[in-house]
Amino acid sequence: MKDFSTAPGETVSSGAFVCKRCGNCCRREGEVVITPLEADAIAAYLGVDFDVFMRDFTALSADRRDLVIAGKADRPCRFFEETAEGPQCKIQCVKPRQCRDFPLRWNYPGWENDCAGGKNDSQR
Ligand code: SF4
Ligand code: SF4
Repeated sequence: MKDFSTAPGETVSSGAFVCKRCGNCCRREGEVVITPLEADAIAAYLGVDFDVFMRDFTALSADRRDLVIAGKADRPCRFFEETAEGPQCKIQCVKPRQCRDFPLRWNYPGWENDCAGGKNDSQR
């Protein structure tokens, strides 16, 4: 079986899939689960004390089973930004595994319709 596991800063790619950085997976409603180790890495990257990061940048998931990145009123992830240069992840090089592994390690029915990298050349 092909190993699609990713290191921090990487996004899953294969010969058939290349992320086009359209940002649609970040715009999609839902929660971004993070582990305590990922929280530690993101806090360090942002130069924020871990306790402050936990208080200001994280939340409990709706089912209260996971730690998640806190959203903002207009977006599910507070680290997502629409800029003049295009969509940006403010923590790209330390983004959590959930983000790195979409769509090859996990996805949802119809993901190809949302993901620019999942469409054939003729559909772009
Ligand atoms: S952490 Fe980055 S890649 Fe993940 S949802 Fe937020 S903006 Fe998108
Ligand atoms: S939706 Fe697909 S192409 Fe767009 S940023 Fe996410 S993984 Fe990359």
